Amino acid sequence: MSIKTLIQTKKNGYRLNGFTFDEVGDDHMFTGLETPMKADAFQTTNDEKKKQISSLFQQIMDVLGLDLTDDSLKGTPDRVAKMYVEEIFSGLDPKNKPKIALFDNKYQYNQMLVEKDITFYSNCEHHFVPIIGKAHVAYISSGKVIGLSKLNRIVQYYAKRPQVQERLTNQIAEELKTALQTEDVAVIIDAKHLCVSSRGVQDDTSATVTSHYGGRFNSSSKINELLNYINHN
Ligand SMILES: [Zn+2]
Repeated sequence: MSIKTLIQTKKNGYRLNGFTFDEVGDDHMFTGLETPMKADAFQTTNDEKKKQISSLFQQIMDVLGLDLTDDSLKGTPDRVAKMYVEEIFSGLDPKNKPKIALFDNKYQYNQMLVEKDITFYSNCEHHFVPIIGKAHVAYISSGKVIGLSKLNRIVQYYAKRPQVQERLTNQIAEELKTALQTEDVAVIIDAKHLCVSSRGVQDDTSATVTSHYGGRFNSSSKINELLNYINHN
């Protein structure tokens, strides 16, 4: 998987791999492992963010011609602001990153551990509509283990950002490597992008699968073993 680079040229303005943003259109891409954030992203309090988002979302609704005095609509800007900051984009804030405690591998379990079918909801950073999918994560202990619920929480933390699936996959994998102090981690994500199914090409049946195989997972026998666990009911 190639990491596309954002290149600015004086003559052409922002271009991605030689294409203009208009030419790229709906084709998804991402520019790096880290979610692109401004340096001052956390100088504003959450309350201030909610206030600003509410006012801006109210303007979007107003421009669309919606009557904000209607009882059904007037609470929407505040609700959207609260949902963005406290729920669906809460994973942008490092304060919300799950705290990971490591335990000694007392059982001496030295095979792969697979946590499969972790349901997650994310949002596409190009269209701000949902990505719905399942993540399967696995690791081989380097002598340390973490609580199973933490695997789930790491997935949820990175899902709660504007995302592209490739970055989500790699961010989860890198976090697991750091937390578990091993390269031997695998992440597979199988997801549906509503920007593909509900609009654009309106393909309702396709799904996108991405994977990251680190360390000892980089062998066809380990990958087959992992896929057997995932496909086993
Ligand atoms: Zn999209």
